[in-house]
Amino acid sequence: MNSQVNSQVNSQVIARQVEPDAAQALIQERGQRAVFCGLTSIIWLHRKIQDAFFLVVGSRTCAHLLQSAGGVMIFSEPRFGTAVLQDRDLAGMADCNAELDRVVAQVLTRRPSIRSLFLVGSCPSEVIKLDLDNAAKRLQQVHGGKLRVVAFSGSGIETTFSQGEDACLEQLVAALPDSTDDAPSLLIAGTLPDIVEDQFHRLFASIGIERVAFFPGRQSDTLPSVGRNTRVLLAQPYLGSTARALEARGAMIIEAPFPLGIEGSALWFHAASAAFGVSPQTVDGVLAGPIARARRALAPLRDYLSGKRISFLPDSQLEMPLARFLSTECGMTPIEVGTPFHDERWLRTDMSLLTANGANSDTRFVEGQDLEPALARVRADRPDLTVCGLGIANPLEAEGLRTKWSIELLFTPIQGFEQAADLAELFARPLRREGRLEVGSWS
Ligand code: SF4
Repeated sequence: MNSQVNSQVNSQVIARQVEPDAAQALIQERGQRAVFCGLTSIIWLHRKIQDAFFLVVGSRTCAHLLQSAGGVMIFSEPRFGTAVLQDRDLAGMADCNAELDRVVAQVLTRRPSIRSLFLVGSCPSEVIKLDLDNAAKRLQQVHGGKLRVVAFSGSGIETTFSQGEDACLEQLVAALPDSTDDAPSLLIAGTLPDIVEDQFHRLFASIGIERVAFFPGRQSDTLPSVGRNTRVLLAQPYLGSTARALEARGAMIIEAPFPLGIEGSALWFHAASAAFGVSPQTVDGVLAGPIARARRALAPLRDYLSGKRISFLPDSQLEMPLARFLSTECGMTPIEVGTPFHDERWLRTDMSLLTANGANSDTRFVEGQDLEPALARVRADRPDLTVCGLGIANPLEAEGLRTKWSIELLFTPIQGFEQAADLAELFARPLRREGRLEVGSWS
């Protein structure tokens, strides 16, 4: 096991992990991409913000994506829908704004408990240049007092699915009230499952940091305030625009690896605590129990995963922290780590941990995507497991290559100590299944 995990994770490790000499060369690829669009983020955003409705202004393709990816729409009547643009709208023959106002009024009559309405742009609405920002302002005037109306783009033109959350939260930052408080407060940015949020809340309280808010929260009327005394800790690596919008409001971003696995979670808590002047010893004392439990749960999975080879095709933007967890805490060997976008500022601590002391020096780090060459490398490498998008997984499975759908990692509680073993299990399961079924070209 990596020495950082075995030893007490403390502030010395934090100091070591930001050394710039650990950075590895990044290969840039530009070509055909195969990723879901930003609309997909609605599936986890609508579960988190429990009084919000997401109205996609798009085509039947957009509606099909949401119905199939979001599932059981007919039975559960979830809080998202599509205002379908028809041929007449696309040809500029109809007044889209009048139609949008009518659909919004219909939605609000049917769901009067809605407190936030998100107008979500798509490829078709972008192509016909439908101005959803202005539509949101107009609808805010009509329905103001009852709800907040915000527009963001989930279009698949040049975006990947996790960027949908970034676009949504970036727009929501403008709605956050100004903080007039002199006392520092902590803002955790990035959607976390409720169970993880509750665990993190308890741990921060035990450490002595009481003024903690989560963004987005569960209810629309509990938006946290932001100002120069706000310290922001990112919970997800794909929130570059949101982070910059928070900085523009005076907030300070705390640099840390992402809270995946024991080491990532411990360093994440240590980084926040250091920003609040809490001693590393206090943090170690609070985290000792959760770390011990997580190590016990993770040990058999590490035994199983250790030595296995893994490749990441660019998809979720979680690839770098996942590769760090699977390498340093589970003993896997990353052959290739592809990510749609590599923002050095948010990912350098994970990258440094992954490549510390010359580790993973043969790993290829790739930013962007050119699908066919990327698939050719997977076929040549034949890793034990390939983490990729849904559309690529089935063809690779048919070739005897085991795969893990990266989108599943966005829907599942994977952050924090209690979830470290569950996260490893997500990667062990497809490999075990192969063993049980005795399928695959090399089994
Ligand atoms: S937003 Fe674009 S990429 Fe996404 S489903 Fe609609 S048409 Fe397809």
